[in-house]
Amino acid sequence: MLKSSFTSPASPARPASSTALAQTSLVTFCASLAVVFALAVALSLYFAHGLDRTERVQGQSMVQKSIESERRLLQLTIKDYSFWGEAYRHLHLKVDMEWAYVRENFGPALYDDFGYQAAFVIGPGNRSVYAVIDGKYETIAAADWLGRPVDEWVAAARALADDEKVFTALTSLAGTPALVVAAAITPSTDPTVQTDDRPPSVMLVVNRLDPQRLQALGESMGLRGLRVARTDDTTVAHALVAAEHGTTFDMQWDAARPGRQMIIVVLPMIILATLIILGMTWVMLRRNTRAARALDGSHELLRDSQVALALSESRFRDVAEASSDWIWETDGDGHVTYLSDRFETVTGVGKAQWLGISIDDLVELPQGTLLAWLRGNPGQGNLTTECSYMDVHRQRRTARIAARTIGDQGFRGTATDVTEEIDARRRVEYLSRHDVLTGLPNRSQLRDYLESRLENALAARQPLVMLTIDLDRFKPVNDLLGHATGDRVLYQIGERIRQCVRSQDIVARVGGDEFVMVVAGAVGHAEIEALCRRLIELIEQVIEVDDQDIHVSASIGIAVSPGDAAHAPELLRYSDIALYEAKASGRGTWRFYDGDMNERIIERRRLESDLRYAIKHGELCLQYQPRFRIADGQMVGAEALVRWQHPQRGLLAPDAFIPIAEDTGLITALGDWVMNAACRQASQWPEELFVSVNVSSKEFQGGQLVERVRAALLRSGLTAARLELEVTESVMLEDADNALTLMRALKGLGVRLAMDDFGTGYSSLSYLRTFPFDGLKIDRSFVGRLGDSQPDLAIIEAVIGLGRALSLTVTAEGVETLEQLQLLDSVACDEGQGYYLSRPLDGARFEELLLASCAR
Ligand code: C2E
Ligand code: CA
Ligand code: CA
Repeated sequence: MLKSSFTSPASPARPASSTALAQTSLVTFCASLAVVFALAVALSLYFAHGLDRTERVQGQSMVQKSIESERRLLQLTIKDYSFWGEAYRHLHLKVDMEWAYVRENFGPALYDDFGYQAAFVIGPGNRSVYAVIDGKYETIAAADWLGRPVDEWVAAARALADDEKVFTALTSLAGTPALVVAAAITPSTDPTVQTDDRPPSVMLVVNRLDPQRLQALGESMGLRGLRVARTDDTTVAHALVAAEHGTTFDMQWDAARPGRQMIIVVLPMIILATLIILGMTWVMLRRNTRAARALDGSHELLRDSQVALALSESRFRDVAEASSDWIWETDGDGHVTYLSDRFETVTGVGKAQWLGISIDDLVELPQGTLLAWLRGNPGQGNLTTECSYMDVHRQRRTARIAARTIGDQGFRGTATDVTEEIDARRRVEYLSRHDVLTGLPNRSQLRDYLESRLENALAARQPLVMLTIDLDRFKPVNDLLGHATGDRVLYQIGERIRQCVRSQDIVARVGGDEFVMVVAGAVGHAEIEALCRRLIELIEQVIEVDDQDIHVSASIGIAVSPGDAAHAPELLRYSDIALYEAKASGRGTWRFYDGDMNERIIERRRLESDLRYAIKHGELCLQYQPRFRIADGQMVGAEALVRWQHPQRGLLAPDAFIPIAEDTGLITALGDWVMNAACRQASQWPEELFVSVNVSSKEFQGGQLVERVRAALLRSGLTAARLELEVTESVMLEDADNALTLMRALKGLGVRLAMDDFGTGYSSLSYLRTFPFDGLKIDRSFVGRLGDSQPDLAIIEAVIGLGRALSLTVTAEGVETLEQLQLLDSVACDEGQGYYLSRPLDGARFEELLLASCAR
């Protein structure tokens, strides 16, 4: 026990010792590096300091030299002046101003040429007799200018006179150093000069070393900023210069410090080098440590890999069972050698019964066998294909196989059941090509069919007949009975149309209530007509939905290829044009396309653009047709009827352009114009007259109707009660709910509402009861037949009775004869309107009529 604990863990010690070794070498290396670095730094500092010191010492001697050379220059200059016969003659005893100052022999030149500030002559009695300060003559004593006695210097100069020497001194003038020279004026060796016994006169010249001068002096010696010390800053280079009476001047300058500059450059380089070396060492050490650790841990890895293998196997098992795929293997002959457990779950077939059986018996390929396919693509990595097999319920299912060869020992792969995916794909494909409601082909499939028939040169020679079938009056079915019912009606109609197509033909639903049938092959005119008749008959048969009998009809437009058009879009357009014509000529019928139809369409387009222009540019006008109370013949109001003064076609009636305006949306602009013009005109009429304006059912759909009416009333100032709106039953047929809302809002404004053309549509009593009408207008077709037939009078009588019951004012339209008027009077019809009473009149004529009736 004890022994094993000491001997066995030899291996764990190894990584520890490797690490220690690495750490020791790191410490040693770092220590030596630190020593080298410190040494390098110390040496550089030492050299730098030495350099700076040398520089400073050199500077000090330069300072001494510069002052000395200045002193020498001053000495030499003055010597020339003082030991000179001419000077003695003109300055001694009596100063010759003319010679000295005006001719600049002594004084001004010293300032101008040398910059010496002051020059004096001190007479034998030690009195200043001549002074030039800054180049100007002045009467000032030397002692006064200098601020100190000069006798000492004068005496010294006289003492040196015999040896022809001059006295110089460095002195302080209020703190500023100044060089002073004093020289006795002697004739020297000039024999022409008479001397006397009096003490010689003395020249005194001052060179004050003010800051600029001192600086220039220093610069001439290579010293920057030479100055008298102002601070005690000992770090700045300085030198002591001896002056008179044992005093000194402390001079400073900005010494260059080459050592310091060297340090600035060298020190960072040393630091950088050290860092790089440290970095590299660290990297190397880390690498070594890792290698050592890897070495130490390698046998642990071996143990790990066995664990990993076991893990991998269990993982494979889990994946194989968790995935929806099943895994298979065969030997070289294609006999099944392995099937994963999932096989049983997915297919419901026991796997034992398949082991040893050929895989080709298990799965089937659309072409050939799986083994043939696998052998046909050897060694190409993963191969995939789709195949089918039978599940336990004998249902055929589809699987996607992914397989690879395993050397020459056979094949291995997975099988994914994709039956649902493929079904979904088929369903999406079906939906994209069929109409969901009727199950008929949709527009997209029709387009493909037409393309294959028409855009292919060979097939294009075969004739095609295209029928565009559109249901008549289907919208009310949807609106009145609901969309669910509408859908069921459409489904039944789809079924009926389908009965009429042969296998080579196609019928597609291309819009809400629009179908297109294409009949292939040469079909005669009579046959097509028979087909159309049959289609319409079938569609017109009553449809029963929820105990309701529903009647719809259809119109058909026909275009033929290659006769009418060779390409699909044209063919579709032409059969559409023919359909439009069929609808226009009363519905429930068919029309073949012909060239004139196109002409008519173009004509219509032209009229459309003309109308757009007409509304904006005042080509519209209104006529007013009066309405009378039948009982006493009093005019009660007038209906505004629009006209279009077309520049080429003359005066157009509304039937020629209102439908166009309705189809193109221009009706809103047109309606606005009519409403405004009518209200404006009526506001000029006597109070008791109203104006009635026709409102198209399309204006009810366009929105804003209430707003527009309100605006027209406001603008014209017409009382709302004097405006009547005439609407037809179609308003209620198209969208009853919306119509009711709008009509209530209009009533809210205070306008009157009348139902126009009563008797031509459904003439539904429920409409009259539900909707807030004030009056109804019996269509002129009833009135026109009055007198010819008794039943019509009965109908009119019934309508009048109804109107009375609902408190509606009943108006008869289209009264053309006296007889009709009398008959209407006999059944107590409220009001009448018609050519017999008055034709529609333009604004001016109508006003004339008003004036005439007033006069009466
Ligand atoms: P409607 O509302 O039924 O207008 C009466 C139509 O009958 C007018 O034709 C008028 O001239 C005509 N008429 C009047 N008295 C007699 C008569 O005794 N005998 C005959 N045979 N006809 C008579 P018009 O002006 O051609 O208007 C036709 C239709 O155009 C109008 O029928 C109305 O529905 C529509 N309309 C007219 N003006 C406008 C308008 O400003 N806006 C809208 N949306 N429609 C209008
Ligand atoms: Ca009308
Ligand atoms: Ca009418």
